[in-house]
Amino acid sequence: MIIEKRVLEALNRQINREFYSSYLYLSMSFYCTGEGLPGFAKWLLVQHDEERQHAGMLTRHILQRGERVALDAVEIPPNRWENIIDLFESALEHERSITASICNLTVLATEQRDFPVQSLMKWFIDEQMEEEASVEEILNQLRFVKENTSAIFIIDRELAHRTQSA
Ligand code: MG
Repeated sequence: MIIEKRVLEALNRQINREFYSSYLYLSMSFYCTGEGLPGFAKWLLVQHDEERQHAGMLTRHILQRGERVALDAVEIPPNRWENIIDLFESALEHERSITASICNLTVLATEQRDFPVQSLMKWFIDEQMEEEASVEEILNQLRFVKENTSAIFIIDRELAHRTQSA
């Protein structure tokens, strides 16, 4: 089943966004290592890996349908934040923008009657709901403890246990 040109372009743009997400979380992970927060750094590194997998799912879909993947330059992510709350606020804002782009891709796939892409986007929409919820959960904890460093230390230790997606 041929992929309509605009759908293919949108898929390739989404691949770029997933790679940017991956790069952003990697940069966030390095920042946390530098701030003496190894648990946050670990959690963000798992996130980094998941985003690469998302890009992989999109590239596989394009290749399975006999089309070409067009990789583009990945934007440079920021490398500093004011504090850990600021970092998670940025992460949430970023995930919401990704959710919006997935929804736009779904609308386009629906208009073009591209049911395989629609089906794939169903998985991505569910995943985005989980992503937003898990980032929000951490953000709420951070907002609750504010500048309390011993509480942040406890959250850091809890996050260190993450080995894969929630
Ligand atoms: Mg993603």
